[in-house]
Amino acid sequence: MAERALLVCFGGMSNVGTLTGLAALEVARAGEGTIFCLASLANGDPVVQKRLKEAERIVAVDGCPLACARRIAERAGFPPHRAIVLAQDLGIKKGLPDAVAALEVQRAVAFIRAALGDEDR
Ligand code: SF4
Repeated sequence: MAERALLVCFGGMSNVGTLTGLAALEVARAGEGTIFCLASLANGDPVVQKRLKEAERIVAVDGCPLACARRIAERAGFPPHRAIVLAQDLGIKKGLPDAVAALEVQRAVAFIRAALGDEDR
C-alpha cells in the first residue's frame, strides 16, 4: 500500500518546531502516516526519493513561515500536496521550545490528520 508521507521540520530550537515533531509522531504511531527523514531527502538519498515517488500523498509540516520542510521537499522535486505551517494555521506565536502545550499538540495532530485525508484546499 502506498505511503502517506509526512515531511516534518522538527525545528527543536522553538516551540512550533518542536510541536511539528510531537504531533507528527502521534499521527505516525496511530498508523495514519509515515515520517520520512527530511535530512536524508535534503542529502539526496535515493531510498527516500524512491519511496516519495511512490507515496500516495505528501504533507509538509512546518513550524514557522520559513517553511524548511516544504522548501527542502520542493528543491528535491517533491512539492507537497499540502503544506502546513503551525504558527500560521494554528495561530501559535513562535517562542522557546519549552513552551509547547499539550492542547497545542492535539490541535496540531488534528490538523495533520486533516491534511493527510483531505483533498487540497
Ligand atoms: S520551519 Fe521554522 S520552526 Fe521549522 S525548522 Fe524551519 S525555522 Fe525552525
